[in-house]
Amino acid sequence: MVVGMSDSILDNATINIREAAKRLELDEFQTEQLIAPDVVAHFRLPLKKDDGSVEVFDAYRAQHSNKRGPYKGGLRFHPSVTPEEAQGLATLMSIKTAAVNIPMGGGKGGIVVDPKLLSEAELERLARSFARHLAPIIGETRDVPAPDVNTNPQIIDWMVEEFEKECNVQAPGTFTGKSVAKGGSLGRIDATGRGGVIVTERIIKSMEMGAPSVAIQGFGNVGQWYAQLGAERGWRVTAVSDSSATLVNAEGLDIQKVIKFKQDGASLKDATGYGDVLNRDAVFGYSCDVLALAALENAVTANNVSSVQAKLIVELANNPITEDAYNTLVKNDIQIAPDVLANAGGVIVSYFEWQQNRASSQWEEADVRQKLEATMAEATQTIVDYAHEHRLNLKDAAFDVAIKRLVE
Ligand code: NAD
Repeated sequence: MVVGMSDSILDNATINIREAAKRLELDEFQTEQLIAPDVVAHFRLPLKKDDGSVEVFDAYRAQHSNKRGPYKGGLRFHPSVTPEEAQGLATLMSIKTAAVNIPMGGGKGGIVVDPKLLSEAELERLARSFARHLAPIIGETRDVPAPDVNTNPQIIDWMVEEFEKECNVQAPGTFTGKSVAKGGSLGRIDATGRGGVIVTERIIKSMEMGAPSVAIQGFGNVGQWYAQLGAERGWRVTAVSDSSATLVNAEGLDIQKVIKFKQDGASLKDATGYGDVLNRDAVFGYSCDVLALAALENAVTANNVSSVQAKLIVELANNPITEDAYNTLVKNDIQIAPDVLANAGGVIVSYFEWQQNRASSQWEEADVRQKLEATMAEATQTIVDYAHEHRLNLKDAAFDVAIKRLVE
């Protein structure tokens, strides 16, 4: 791995692909084909505001690779959206879908907007406008967007309706992450946390570790499901953090109670009745076997990496470890379950939603869970075995496995 190049998702993805290409002895043309996106589309979306004024928003859709199936990836509504970020995340999606072996490619996009500054009606008009602009380049067999940061099933339902009207078709499989009433899949809400637990279970087994103690940075959808499903398997969740504080109990937190406390709208800084409240970043250095990162990118950095005590870090967020912190962890023999594997549960169930829509069927929740378990377990085993065989860390192994499939 190259030391301290950059913390941008696109730069890191590009570095990781170049290194994998070198290990796999790909030629220059194959390597550049893997890096170059097929399309980065730029849209300008004029929005008529409730007060009659007009504001124009920039929006992007990056389509990285469709070599293995339609482009697949989320749409985020956030002020920090850039074409480079969309391209970087689309690249990671191509690696992720190939690493877990589902027949989809990689895409990502979004609107440069703070949705908190829009009324509900303005948000709906903007989402529908984006769907009309995207219509010529997306579709069930072409590019299948999904929700991401600040987008949700309601927004996706509006976009499906608008797309179908614009194209005069019935094609609910053009988007995933719909509400269940509009063709969404059962089992999507917990899929990323559940997938993370399945990956963790397999890796700790390969490390010959028993039921672990676990610290979790970020206690939203993914962190809470990971904690709950881990606790059900007998793991001791000793620390959880949100943007306000870290809550710890060395004996193990009562996860059901802490989740209820959070879901009632409270912050962990006020959770004194459930454990000891420490500062927000105390989670990184808390004594544990497994540290799960379920907040944002660039969480573990050169500044806090030396405090990490875990034997395994699980990347539930995308790109949560900076490149130089990564090198330090690898040098210290700390295992890392890479994002392209550890958080793939969401895109796998999105793929199941697409399959159900294409077949006009709806699977039972138990069926979705069983298929998710099988897909994630097989992907993890393949990557763990490849890592052992080639003496690589799990991230390099995941990239090699994915890139081999992409060039095949
Ligand atoms: P979420 O918004 O529900 O939760 C995020 C949590 O992180 C919140 O509890 C927030 O308080 C906390 N947080 C923010 N900054 C923090 C900080 N500095 N320190 C500690 N905690 C902090 O989001 P989510 O859906 O749970 O997603 C978590 C991460 O996983 C995101 O990076 C997301 O991109 C990634 N991810 C999510 C999915 C999915 O299906 N939801 C799929 C793949 C990747």
